[in-house]
Amino acid sequence: MSTVQTETQTIHKVFKVPTKVTKDSTPNGKTKSSQGDEEELHVEKYHEMNNNEEDNSSKYEYKMEIVWFNAIGFLILHLGALYGIFLGFTRAKLLTFLWAAALAYISALATTMGAHRLYTHRTFKANKWIRGALVFFQTVAGQNCLWVWIRDHRQHHKYSDTHGDPHNSSRGFFFCHIGWLMVRKHPEVLKKGKTIDMSDINQDPIVMFQKKYYKTLFMIIAIALPSVIPHICWNESLWNSFFLCFVARLVVSLNFTWLVNSAAHIYGTRPFSKDIAPVENWFVSLFGLGEGWHNYHHTFPWDYRAAEFGQHFNVTTTVIDYCTRKGWVYDLKYASPELVKRHSVKKGDGSHPIYGKIHPDDFDPAENY
Ligand SMILES: [Zn+2]
Ligand SMILES: [Zn+2]
Repeated sequence: MSTVQTETQTIHKVFKVPTKVTKDSTPNGKTKSSQGDEEELHVEKYHEMNNNEEDNSSKYEYKMEIVWFNAIGFLILHLGALYGIFLGFTRAKLLTFLWAAALAYISALATTMGAHRLYTHRTFKANKWIRGALVFFQTVAGQNCLWVWIRDHRQHHKYSDTHGDPHNSSRGFFFCHIGWLMVRKHPEVLKKGKTIDMSDINQDPIVMFQKKYYKTLFMIIAIALPSVIPHICWNESLWNSFFLCFVARLVVSLNFTWLVNSAAHIYGTRPFSKDIAPVENWFVSLFGLGEGWHNYHHTFPWDYRAAEFGQHFNVTTTVIDYCTRKGWVYDLKYASPELVKRHSVKKGDGSHPIYGKIHPDDFDPAENY
């Protein structure tokens, strides 16, 4: 599979430290941004290669099969979460409520910054302390082990909104939000899952350690520690603590994550690529720590900001930028403004506040819009 190897833009330019020219590639072996036509050619290739396999799903009959254990399990979890929230506003101590909220926030950040932008898309590099912290708090989040999370998300990008996508949004809001976890996987999901390149992850000792001991780590780090600490430190009852700091926290953060798969594939605008399902959705960005600028993200998945303007409703980018200034993360990749402009004019739905007004035939790359 040939790719266009080009200069990688690094965040060094933004923070005025010596620019380091590197060559790098995305998780699927595709190269990233460069200038002008090469950049655009690269975007085309990236998406072509990610969608070049035939969708065979119409060639046989697929009958959806509900996994009742999961469906009833999620129902119980959601009822437990409602009860946990009730306890949080009535019987639990204020400190316990704040503890649950803080855990939800930091574990969500570990999911967006770690599982998503660092490990799945390799949009930047991080030192071992940051990687260790991200894996630890991703375990607190309780959203399955990183290995499975990354495989599913790479598959989601590669086969977006087809039957090969684990949470295919063309099957409706409920399916791509939570339903996909309550039914047997579509045969195309199983088949296409085997095509996902996980070679980089298989060589990562921290991620593989978490995968090997995930059940034990989940019991200790996601359930026991969050529940026991309030009991030991400020004498909260274990009952309140368990329902608020584990059950409610888990369910609330899961739903905000799922909104990226559901709302951010259905409700919003497509200023960068009008021919794909993902949209720009400010609500999901606000509560999903910057992950709702999803039309941009699916168009330029190697961009560490996951948005055209990094800071706007984008806590994850703010934290990555802070870590960059501290020297903890480095080699950040992003799409050049020229590429974004060109792509938006040619492929967007016209909703971009600046580029949307330009007709593709009138587009002049030299012009400063
Ligand atoms: Zn992604
Ligand atoms: Zn998506």
